[in-house]
Amino acid sequence: MKLTHWLAGAVLALGAALTLSGCSTHAASNKLTVVSSVDFYGEVAKAVVGDYGTVTSVIDNPDIDPHDYEPTTAVAKTVARANVVIVNGGGYDSWMDKLVGADSGTVKVVSAAKVVGIRDGENEHVWYKPEVMPKMARALAKQFGALDPKHRAAYTANATAYIKKLQPLTAQIARLKAKAAGQAVAVSEPVFSNALSALGYRIINPHFAAAVEESTDPSPKDIRELTAAIKHKQIAFFVQNVQVESKVVSNIVAQVRAAGIPVLKVTETMPAKQTYTSWMMSQYAQLEKIQNTQK
Ligand SMILES: [Zn+2]
Repeated sequence: MKLTHWLAGAVLALGAALTLSGCSTHAASNKLTVVSSVDFYGEVAKAVVGDYGTVTSVIDNPDIDPHDYEPTTAVAKTVARANVVIVNGGGYDSWMDKLVGADSGTVKVVSAAKVVGIRDGENEHVWYKPEVMPKMARALAKQFGALDPKHRAAYTANATAYIKKLQPLTAQIARLKAKAAGQAVAVSEPVFSNALSALGYRIINPHFAAAVEESTDPSPKDIRELTAAIKHKQIAFFVQNVQVESKVVSNIVAQVRAAGIPVLKVTETMPAKQTYTSWMMSQYAQLEKIQNTQK
């Protein structure tokens, strides 16, 4: 292992010598190179870095399952060239931590989980925390400004402008929160649970949801309890991650519909041709409709 590493180092050193002129040009241009594990953090990074850097998102296709993702050597090279790497954190994209760990130690990491205070083992779907993007915009402006003090004011102004653009979403969340009033809901799996908790909903089937997320069968007891709650209309709505296929979940959704309970459809990854804001707002608009039919 050590020998392989040494050899790899020698090859890298040779490569570095050959591309030395390219490197100094890069340094002179002062442009920041930012790599994000997933596209929605890449979006906020682009907004904040503006004209003074480039942003690459590794997972930028809604059909890639981030839970199962494994990076290619091309991705490893891209990460090795980065000044700043953005991770979701919380164990969601630990492949990126490994790539960064294998690097020389100069790359700065901004973790969304750390920015909003989510620890390992907690729900890792950090982008469903309503405060995540305003906080990320500020954290990125700070990091970019530290690396490139000449444009610090621009990064701060870009972050403020991005946060302002989030205002319709922030307002929508506030309206939803006012009506949630601690109502009980059930979920197919935990992707949307950070949003539900922030809005004030109570999730009655976390054990069932965890089993589905781990691709194992929920226990007969979990299924029995959920079926009873549906039958007695004890939930305001059911949240379905439409990107997870599960026979158990399909059966539950059929029961939910038969009982006349609304289904809120959400996704793990950002759909094609959407922005973070439009994606969130379309899901929250569905929820607003559900709330309005219930009042
Ligand atoms: Zn997930």
